[in-house]
Amino acid sequence: MNEFNLDRLVRENIRRMTPYSSARHEFTGMASVYLDANENAFGSPLPDNYNRYPDPLQHNLKEKISAVKGIPAQHIFLGNGSDEAIDLLFRIFCEPGKDNVIIFPPTYGMYEVCAEVNNVSVKKVPLTPAFQIDLEALEAAVDENSKLIFVCSPNNPTGNSIHRPDIELLLNNFEGLVVVDEAYINYARQKTMIPELTEYPNLVILQTLSKAWGLAGLRLGMAFASNPVTELMNRVKYPYNINTATQRLAEEALTRISSVNNWTQTTVREREELAAALVSLPFITTVYPSDANFLLVKMVNARTIYAYLAEAGIIVRDRSTVILCDDCLRITIGTPDENRQLLEALKKYSA
Ligand SMILES: *Cc1c(COP(=O)(O)O)cnc(C)c1O
Repeated sequence: MNEFNLDRLVRENIRRMTPYSSARHEFTGMASVYLDANENAFGSPLPDNYNRYPDPLQHNLKEKISAVKGIPAQHIFLGNGSDEAIDLLFRIFCEPGKDNVIIFPPTYGMYEVCAEVNNVSVKKVPLTPAFQIDLEALEAAVDENSKLIFVCSPNNPTGNSIHRPDIELLLNNFEGLVVVDEAYINYARQKTMIPELTEYPNLVILQTLSKAWGLAGLRLGMAFASNPVTELMNRVKYPYNINTATQRLAEEALTRISSVNNWTQTTVREREELAAALVSLPFITTVYPSDANFLLVKMVNARTIYAYLAEAGIIVRDRSTVILCDDCLRITIGTPDENRQLLEALKKYSA
């Protein structure tokens, strides 16, 4: 285990700042008259007390997530999508114009977008042709200003999981934070790294309600990390980042885990069937193994096939200009009927 020193990682201004203290932060007990937050005391045009500010630290929702994920609430940060957590990590740990982060392309686009917004440089260490981490190239790229390493596993857009021993190697040797983005973990054969949080103070895990949970429209992302890290994230976030409707609806959704599990099982089954059917088409060269709810598919002339499918009313993601993804489309697993429509259209293309 390396000597991990969180204080040394945090930007000077963040370490010194006094967080905004809202009315709802300062008084958390129960009272009968609330005249502390300049809310409209008469009510709201909607039922259910929308005139009141939401709980800034989302206690009730975190208790529910804690029970589902098996992790104490103080290790949970909730954001307006995982994207908020990603942006906060930059703002807390990366000094603009000085620090850098490491990403493994091809991967999720938001890491680089957030880096650019925050004027933080990105060191790109491309995955190997087998879509795994190039450890030698990584070692050469890391320097004393490297603060974050983003490991997307299962990776978007390649679909595979990153070898766990490689991630553990980073956790044991990197002095910054290792951010493991598990947006697609529900579909994976590999297990979540949540149990590893007790061992690694430099581990941050991102999950989301946007994919398997079917709540992309609600905007709720989760970060699991050591308590000092979640505290920093709470200090820097907007005070009321998760609105009342999202908190209530997410709490309700978390009680319906069995439909989520059913969809996940069906998606995995459909993924394997679709993969087998796609490989048999003559113009498809590779269907990469997937641990996610999409397939990366290499074919002869992906751009033309993308346009053909769009013309047929079927939209997939063209990844053909992305490194290591020449002539690849990324296809989300749909319902059995949607997948059938996709296959029928593709069979007509080859005919
Ligand atoms: C879809 C996706 C997310 C989800 O982001 P939200 O902001 O929570 O919707 C995060 N990471 C990866 C790799 C994704 O593909």
